[in-house]
Amino acid sequence: MAIISTTQGEEAIFGDSVITTKLDSAISWARESSMWPYIFGTACCAIEFMSVASSKFDISRFGAEVVRFSPRQADLMIIAGTISNKQAPILKRIYDQMTEPKWVMSAGACACSGGFYDNYTTLQGVDEIIPVDVYISGCPPRPEAFLDGLMQIQKLQAKPAKYLQQRAKREFKGRLDA
Ligand code: SF4
Repeated sequence: MAIISTTQGEEAIFGDSVITTKLDSAISWARESSMWPYIFGTACCAIEFMSVASSKFDISRFGAEVVRFSPRQADLMIIAGTISNKQAPILKRIYDQMTEPKWVMSAGACACSGGFYDNYTTLQGVDEIIPVDVYISGCPPRPEAFLDGLMQIQKLQAKPAKYLQQRAKREFKGRLDA
């Protein structure tokens, strides 16, 4: 006679077993599994992000669907689109208002390097003003590339202490820093 288990998911796998871990690892796991992105979307790349957030590509599979438009509630800034020099101080202020540990993804040619807007109005890469953790190429990047970038940040988050120390040692100084 077959025994049919009515339990599902983690209960079926772990049963009554006990898991031990370090507090830091548990916190990192919780953080990487529930990132709250802030989208600084200014142009076509932001439209591509809408695909990432919608059902076909479904960013919620990675626990990052809670998009927030307050920097105080977000830990991942995604810059998607062309950034003009006039917008640069606003972007910097929003970044500064986010609490640590915070992460930055520069999505698409315009955010990474100014793209084909090689002119006096356009910031030639957001890393001129804030530190960037992951760059995504493309014009625009495919939704899969956004998801890949998110997974790269999740990997960095798995062992954040070492990475954040390295990032601090680089002593980033942007051109808007005093
Ligand atoms: S990288 Fe291409 S798609 Fe993205 S904002 Fe610039 S021009 Fe638009």
